[in-house]
Amino acid sequence: MLYRNLGTSGLRVSVIGFGTWATFGNQISDDLAEELLTIAYENGVNFFDTAEVYAAGKAEILLGNILKKKKWRRSSYIISTKLFWGGRAETERGLSRKHIIEGINGSLQRLQMSYVDIVFANKSDPTTSMEEIVRAFTQVISDGKAMYWGTSRWSSVEICEAFSVARQYNLIPPTVEQAEYHFFQREMVETQIPYLHQRLGIGSISWSPLSCGVISGKYTDAIPCMSRAQLKGFSWLKEKIISESGRRQQAKLMELQIIADRFGCSLSQLAIAWCLRFEANNGVLIGATSTEQLMENLKSIKLIPQITNLEVLNEIDNILGNSPNT
Ligand code: NDP
Repeated sequence: MLYRNLGTSGLRVSVIGFGTWATFGNQISDDLAEELLTIAYENGVNFFDTAEVYAAGKAEILLGNILKKKKWRRSSYIISTKLFWGGRAETERGLSRKHIIEGINGSLQRLQMSYVDIVFANKSDPTTSMEEIVRAFTQVISDGKAMYWGTSRWSSVEICEAFSVARQYNLIPPTVEQAEYHFFQREMVETQIPYLHQRLGIGSISWSPLSCGVISGKYTDAIPCMSRAQLKGFSWLKEKIISESGRRQQAKLMELQIIADRFGCSLSQLAIAWCLRFEANNGVLIGATSTEQLMENLKSIKLIPQITNLEVLNEIDNILGNSPNT
């Protein structure tokens, strides 16, 4: 496994983190979830991500149960959870001081832990003042319920505002942004993150390197019945895949497959290694529904040195045609 510091913090994260969205407490059995988590941990993955909203809290409960059963040293892994959508009531959503404090308490209870390593704001909340948000996350950390806090899907302007408020009132600024990043979604991680990292020391943990499995190549001819796009609640993914732009993406993936074949790797491995090609993206969060997928994806780390070759990167850029830096 390869490890990087999370931004300018001292926290060493495995470049591949394992996420629980869509799978834990939903798509896969509890036994398989335990097996996957064990494989990940035994292969050096030290970062496990969840959220209060995943499977309406069931993902946190399952993750907590497995970790309790495994008895791995708490100091040997990093747990992150995310707050925003905590329940149906008006007061159970958003980034009010009330929801941040009650939300973290609920997550800790479900996880059966006294602290998480990172608590993320799962989304920005324009209806709550930045001062209230930064104060509340500072309190969570001061109370020993989290080590760091981070943002997810925030714009660079919002992240800068959080920093400025933290400096003004001597509060704790966010350490990391969690943004979507893959072949077809590049803007934030390629144009904003390097700047935020250089100026503010912000770290980056990106999510969905396979765009929910689309980049594995499994959707070239049809929508396989045992895939995320067939899950209840994921019709938006199916529609995206069969749309005009989805078909164009599939055509590009067939071209990228040729590069993967040349490297003797799978398209998924090429995609994950590509996301990790620059250090400012400290890690990626992957998901898996089988041990085979997980083992395949973990092996992508070996490809990183090969993919940083400029010719290869240009070749990929020419196929994608969406580099935000040109
Ligand atoms: P990926 O893009 O890696 O998609 C994972 C899914 O793709 C798997 O569940 C599986 O689905 C399929 N897959 C994975 N590997 C392969 C393979 N080798 N071959 C074929 N199919 C494969 O990541 P996720 O979308 O799952 O996101 C990862 C994590 O990121 C989440 O668990 C969560 O922690 C985080 N996240 C954060 C968000 C945020 O707002 N901050 C939003 C979304 C995710 P299947 O077999 O069912 O097709």
